[in-house]
Amino acid sequence: MSGFFYRYKQIVSLILAFSMMLGGLVVKLFVPLPDDNYENYMARYNERDVYKNTFEAAVPQTEVAGMVRAHYASPLPEGKTEKKAIIIGYDGCRADAIDLTFDTGASYMLLKDGGHAYVAYCGGVMLPDDNTQDTSTAPGWCSILTGEWADVHGITRNDMPKNNDDALTILTTLVEDGTIDSSAFYTMWKGHFTNENSTYINEKKYCEEKGLDVTYSLSSLNIPTAYETIKDIRKDQCSDLIFTILEAPDETGHLSGFTPDNPVYAFGVKLNESLAAFMIDSIKARDTYDTEDWLIIITSDHGGISKGHGGNSLQERMTFIITNKELVYD
Ligand SMILES: [Zn+2]
Repeated sequence: MSGFFYRYKQIVSLILAFSMMLGGLVVKLFVPLPDDNYENYMARYNERDVYKNTFEAAVPQTEVAGMVRAHYASPLPEGKTEKKAIIIGYDGCRADAIDLTFDTGASYMLLKDGGHAYVAYCGGVMLPDDNTQDTSTAPGWCSILTGEWADVHGITRNDMPKNNDDALTILTTLVEDGTIDSSAFYTMWKGHFTNENSTYINEKKYCEEKGLDVTYSLSSLNIPTAYETIKDIRKDQCSDLIFTILEAPDETGHLSGFTPDNPVYAFGVKLNESLAAFMIDSIKARDTYDTEDWLIIITSDHGGISKGHGGNSLQERMTFIITNKELVYD
C-alpha cells in the first residue's frame, strides 16, 4: 500500500473508531456492559490471541530497561552505522485491550513486520502474590525506566520524588556513561517531572547540573505530546533514546471504565495506536533509516478495573511489551 493510502486509511479508521465510540456510548446508556470478570477477561484475551508467552510466564515490566541496554550493547548489524531506540508508553492500557483487528495501529504494524508481543506484569511480583507497589503510573514507568522494582527505586505510589541514589533511569545512565549522546522524555502528565513531588524532579536537576543531553518535555494533551515526539524523530540528529507516553486509555478509563467492552476506553486505545503508528511511520521515513538499527517498544505501566487502578486484580496487574525485536528473557 502506498504511503498516501496508508495514511488515508489510518485517518479513516480513526474516524470510524470515533463514530463507533459515539454509537457505543448511546448503546451503553441503555444496555449494560458485560461484567468485567475473570471469565470475560480470559475469553477476550484468548480470542485476541496476541501474545507468544502464557500468563504463567508473564514478563516483568522491568525487562524493558534491560532490552534497551542489550540493544545498545549488541554489535551493529551489517550495513548499519547507528543505534536508536524508542519506548512508546500506552498509559493504563490493559493486556486484553490490544486488538489486532485494528490494522492501522502501531501494534499491528510491528507484529505484521515480524515483531513480538509478550504479556507482562506490573506491581513488583507476579500474581497471585499481592502487589508490592501500586499498579499506578509513577511506580509502573519507574520500574520500566530503571529496570528495578520499588524495593530498589523506592517509588511505591504516585506523588513521591525518587532519590537519585536509589536508581537512575536509562534515559540518564545511558547518556552519562557515554553509550548514547542524547535521550528525551515526552509526556503530558505533570506528576513525572513538573510538580513539586513529581517522580523525576531530582533526576531532572541531576541531568541539568551534570549538563547531560536529556530533554524533559511537557505537553498539554495527547496529540501535542505525539507531535513533539514526531518533531524529534524527524530531526536529522534525533534523540538516540526517546520515551513518550500517550494517556488516552488512562483518561478514558478513569472517565468511563477500564474495559475493552467500553467503547470509550476502546477508542482511547485506538487513539494511542494511531498516534504511535504515525511515530513509527516517521521513523521509517527518516533519510538515514536504512543505516539505523531501531529498537521499537510499546508497553504499558498498568491496567485498570472499574474506573481506577492501583490494586491487585488481574485487570490492573497484566500489561504487555510489543516490540520489533525478540526479547531474550529466562
Ligand atoms: Zn498510568
